[in-house]
Amino acid sequence: MDFNSFNLHPKITAGIVAAGYTLPTPIQAAAIPKIMQLRDVMGLAQTGTGKTAAFGLPILHQLMQGRRGCVRALVIAPTRELAEQIHVSLSQLGKQSGLRSATIYGGVGINPQISKLKSGVDIVVACPGRLLDHIKQKTINLSQLDVLVLDEADRMFDMGFLPDIRRIIKCLPTRRQTLLFSATMPQEIRHLAKEVLTDPETVQVDIVAPPTTVSHALYPVPQHLKTDLLLELLQKTATDSVLIFTRTKHRAKRLGEKLGASGYRAASLQGNLSQNRRQAALDGFRSGAFQILVATDIAARGIDVSQVSHVVNFDIPDTAEAYIHRIGRTGRATRSGDAFTMITEEDGQMVRTIERALGNQIEQRRLDGFNYSVAAPACTAQPARRHTRAMPRPKSQQERSRRSPSNGRSVSGGRR
Ligand code: AMP
Repeated sequence: MDFNSFNLHPKITAGIVAAGYTLPTPIQAAAIPKIMQLRDVMGLAQTGTGKTAAFGLPILHQLMQGRRGCVRALVIAPTRELAEQIHVSLSQLGKQSGLRSATIYGGVGINPQISKLKSGVDIVVACPGRLLDHIKQKTINLSQLDVLVLDEADRMFDMGFLPDIRRIIKCLPTRRQTLLFSATMPQEIRHLAKEVLTDPETVQVDIVAPPTTVSHALYPVPQHLKTDLLLELLQKTATDSVLIFTRTKHRAKRLGEKLGASGYRAASLQGNLSQNRRQAALDGFRSGAFQILVATDIAARGIDVSQVSHVVNFDIPDTAEAYIHRIGRTGRATRSGDAFTMITEEDGQMVRTIERALGNQIEQRRLDGFNYSVAAPACTAQPARRHTRAMPRPKSQQERSRRSPSNGRSVSGGRR
């Protein structure tokens, strides 16, 4: 199946060519025909599967017919970064269409948004809170709405947005098409889907399977040597752009600074940044001005940087879902990517959980030439000694024979 088989408007097809897409991704192949038949759709797909174009292309196609300059499509997304990305993506795909889109989210002035809405837009991409403000102030007219998209519905639930979503939906015309996209299906999203979708068609791409173009590796390391190992890994690996995840915003900030001090073009993205600085970090990473971006899960939600070559989990995530979400930033669509995860001895349980979700054991690596036996500084000597002694599943036979059976037991091995 290629894009021609959808019979999209020629001006939209021109946008696909300009974006460089040659073949539809599975979610696009499944969703586009259904959306073009004006069916309500429930899309089970995670970021990185091409879901934005899966709903964006048929919407742009539909909007080529009919009135211009009034809001006919509304996309609701959990974060401003995601809203911006969707807006950029729709603007790129619809470049020839003459359709206009605007973003609406908090943390920035409301007046420019009001002016933009007044000037007449066809598509609005919004975060729930600020959209409700506009609805209350009557600065947005949604009476002509044809299609509503709820994107990353599970994230919106996580972030406590469902009551706002329900309030917004009450203000929309009941005769409309509704598309709901979610990576997972918690009970609350099932309820929401029941309320808002009419006779929906479900389209699904593997929920738990990460992109097959990603290769995974675990790097066992004592906690206090993580930064040194990272620096050596970066030096020895040909990387394009690297997204690094830490557990806390403090760690993200500190690591970003250390990488900068070591000569890397690095930025960190964490909740404490002002909107301008977040945007500057993201834009710099996208443009290549920053080669490395260090982020927490929350700060990185929905980041779409298609050319990420490596995702490094400086700290292992808390859930398998978060792992898959993180590494979804690399190996996108047709590209390939690497996901490196640093693990300490406390991470064994989570490694097992992630491996179960992937359906595979992840290769464990030791970096040749790296000195794993450097002692921890005095203040962290206790935990570091423990890590050093019981570092999980060493690669070399020599290392293995040095360990007692219990200490040397692999983090992930010997159970399947
Ligand atoms: P999304 O899941 O919408 O965040 O898309 C993930 C990435 O895949 C984005 O960088 C898109 O530009 C890219 N993409 C979407 N559809 C295609 C396609 N059919 N071929 C190649 N890349 C695509």
